[in-house]
Amino acid sequence: MTMIGTVYLVGAGPGDAGLMTVRGRDLVAACDVVVYDRLVGKEILDWCRADVEMIFVGKEAGRHSMTQDEINALLVEKARQGQSVCRLKGGDPFVFGRGGEEALFCLENSVPFEIVPGVTSAIAAPAYAGIPVTHRGVATSFAVVTGHTKDDDAPPENLPVADTLVCLMGVRALPKIVAALLARGENPDKPVALVRWGTTENQQVVTGTLQTIEAEVEKAQLKPPALIIIGDVVNLREQMRWFDARPLWGQTVIVTRAREQASGLVAGLRERGARVIQCPTIRVENLDDYTILDDVLNGFQAYEWVVFTSANGVEKYWDRLAVAGLDSRPLCSSQIAAIGPATVAALKAHGVNADFVPETSISESVAEDLLLRGARHGRTLLVRALEGRDVIEKMLRAEGVEVVVAPCYRTVPDTSQAEEAKAEIEAGRVSWITFTSTSTVQNFVDAIGADTIAAHRDKFRVACIGPITARTAEQLNIKPDAVAENASVEALVKVILESAT
Ligand code: SAH
Repeated sequence: MTMIGTVYLVGAGPGDAGLMTVRGRDLVAACDVVVYDRLVGKEILDWCRADVEMIFVGKEAGRHSMTQDEINALLVEKARQGQSVCRLKGGDPFVFGRGGEEALFCLENSVPFEIVPGVTSAIAAPAYAGIPVTHRGVATSFAVVTGHTKDDDAPPENLPVADTLVCLMGVRALPKIVAALLARGENPDKPVALVRWGTTENQQVVTGTLQTIEAEVEKAQLKPPALIIIGDVVNLREQMRWFDARPLWGQTVIVTRAREQASGLVAGLRERGARVIQCPTIRVENLDDYTILDDVLNGFQAYEWVVFTSANGVEKYWDRLAVAGLDSRPLCSSQIAAIGPATVAALKAHGVNADFVPETSISESVAEDLLLRGARHGRTLLVRALEGRDVIEKMLRAEGVEVVVAPCYRTVPDTSQAEEAKAEIEAGRVSWITFTSTSTVQNFVDAIGADTIAAHRDKFRVACIGPITARTAEQLNIKPDAVAENASVEALVKVILESAT
């Protein structure tokens, strides 16, 4: 007999993936089946196992949405097949999430269940709007209500009395809620805020008073999903606003870097409030043939210098060491050069400190620096991409240095996100496009089309990581508006911030 699986009713938090609980994330990553709703953040689904069965049960235009009975039956059926089921719900499963019904149905059917509470939007969306639901001297109580009644025409009954009222699913019922509060004698000047897609990069906040809020919502064309906050705490937003006050808030930035390398730039931009669209134009792939690197690793040649030109190179080098059953000792008698801060960090993560980090990442000056540091007296190993620039090796060889080039990965064009990026550019929503290498510029132009870029060139700005990338951009008719000083991700974020504010 198959063992019955467990159904986990998991709160996915209000949207920002970072607000999910550790327990919730562990379950998303472990379960056989993930059943999810519309309000669950996309990034959270990326944590699922590669072989997971994902089932969407939310409402979406043009699609049949499952009834609650069908969802209940689905959870029980999957568990009876012996599968572990993660039932992901926006916010907290028991705050207007119908988690209670699903738990009771499991109970009736003798299917074991567990509850993982989540950060509810009722508290988190106000917080991300700079509104604390309680505040000393302002609000000592808050109540969370639904604006959705079984009969949509019925007025909301018996709205509770609390200093702060948070109403979920209430956008459509706003006029009725306002009328009910005024009818019971609330001050028409009582502050009100609506928060749509709170805690996400699409967060939208509209404020007003009981008297003005309907007109404000109309003016802003604010649509669900949003929640309503009614109470004097709303006034605190003026001072406490933080999330949508960050310097790059409201700006969309396209990142063209390969996914494997993009995390630093993406995080740096998001931290400053930017909406980031990843449009990697290249993808890092393993080589079919590692003979050169394997021979180097297994050989007994001594290298005066080993030069790592990228963090990818470092990772692949260690991958091959592992394949050969080796550790980092082949490096023990060499001096190690690392180009760029990400490469330094990658080496450090493997317990190796670089002896030399060139001041710039420009190949010409790297080669000169290496020669100054005595590279001419011994053999040099270059660990790099198959199709990297060959300036360093040529310059070293010209000075009589014996150079071994060990390619350890290759980059191939990636057009999987090009359509989305193109649509955003055409819609005029893009504020910045970032280029982090010559190849990303070329590949991006190939993927999006020079015509499209030219036609919308006045709507976005272009930032390049360094002078070489900037020159390539210029040659392709995309004159950069900002160029980072020292070819680092930090410097790139900095120049964007400087010209954005
Ligand atoms: N269980 C969820 C609520 C589900 S009801 C929770 O605890 O958050 C769905 C309603 O929640 C939406 O109609 C909207 O009013 C509110 N909501 C959910 N996520 C939201 C968000 N990110 N920003 C604003 N409101 C949100």
